[in-house]
Amino acid sequence: MATKTISKAGLSALVRDLLSAGTRVVAPVRRREPDPGGVEYAELTSPDQMCLDGPQPSRSLKEWIFPPSEPLFCWRQTGSEIQLDPAPTAYPETVVVGARPCDAAALEILDRVMGWDYRDEPWFGRRQATLLLVLACQQCDDSCFCTAVGLSPTSRRGADCFLTKAGDGFSVDPITPRGQALLDRFPAHFGEAPAAAAREADGLEQKVRSNLSARPDRIRGWLETHFDDPLWKRLALRCHGCGACAFVCPTCHCFDIVDEPDGNDRGTRRRSWDTCQTALFTLHTSGHNPRPDQAARYRQRLLHKFAVYPARFDEVLCTGCGRCVRVCPAGMDLVEILAEIDRAAEAPGGPR
Ligand code: SF4
Ligand code: SF4
Repeated sequence: MATKTISKAGLSALVRDLLSAGTRVVAPVRRREPDPGGVEYAELTSPDQMCLDGPQPSRSLKEWIFPPSEPLFCWRQTGSEIQLDPAPTAYPETVVVGARPCDAAALEILDRVMGWDYRDEPWFGRRQATLLLVLACQQCDDSCFCTAVGLSPTSRRGADCFLTKAGDGFSVDPITPRGQALLDRFPAHFGEAPAAAAREADGLEQKVRSNLSARPDRIRGWLETHFDDPLWKRLALRCHGCGACAFVCPTCHCFDIVDEPDGNDRGTRRRSWDTCQTALFTLHTSGHNPRPDQAARYRQRLLHKFAVYPARFDEVLCTGCGRCVRVCPAGMDLVEILAEIDRAAEAPGGPR
């Protein structure tokens, strides 16, 4: 599949054509509040809203595939009869323009669990309806550590097309047949790439590497052998258990299922995001809680991401996006925590 180019004006024209064709287009846009400098993924009504050279969107792409709350089915009771109305299974055709590499990779990492012992149809329905135009990162900060978990600012994992800033526009590499089909559908917006097209994605990778150079296999080894390490109690002294880290995380995927009655004879069964960071998440009806304190809950988050998921799926459940670091009201810094675990694992005489 041949590399093409697209100018900024061409990309705007492409978005306009997609919108005219009834396609939902999602892209990073500037937030108005509460953080006017920030960026978030939002549905476009005009290409002018796109912000492709800003900071990382504050929330991940996950919510476009796995909404914070969604109905599974509705029920209605008539006498002794119960009627179930399934939730719609048609999902809007969506093109994401300017997805971050860490967010696109996260969706592919989550495909593993979503198709594991039970196929999550809403997840895969939206995945199949969504095309990802991933843009190489142009900014990173001290919280980014994608290179420590096998990704990079130019990772193409999960992309249908991969865009790199080049001069006043972008070079475009189709990665999947669906990505190529988009280029074939709108050929007028794309140009031939020069033999050695100049790309502007270099430089960031070294910066991200300098943030954290820990090895996931070493971290996993330490986690698997330090269930009762004093580290967990020390970390828990700071953690409020608010769950903000999980909600902004592109790979956290726990949910709760509740029935919401609407009167006496009808209601909706919904699933909504939940997180292992709150006490209620594992509280049994009996009052017993297998994760009775924040030390156990924070340990669970790290073990799941860096030991349990890798053991089951051969994948680290973290893309190093750094959002949990930026959002944490208590200043819990996963970059520092992983570096500390890595140092402990590397210490003379083996893991402490
Ligand atoms: S955001 Fe910070 S304080 Fe809140 S649960 Fe996560 S680590 Fe704890
Ligand atoms: S754990 Fe933190 S750094 Fe890793 S993917 Fe989730 S939000 Fe990003």
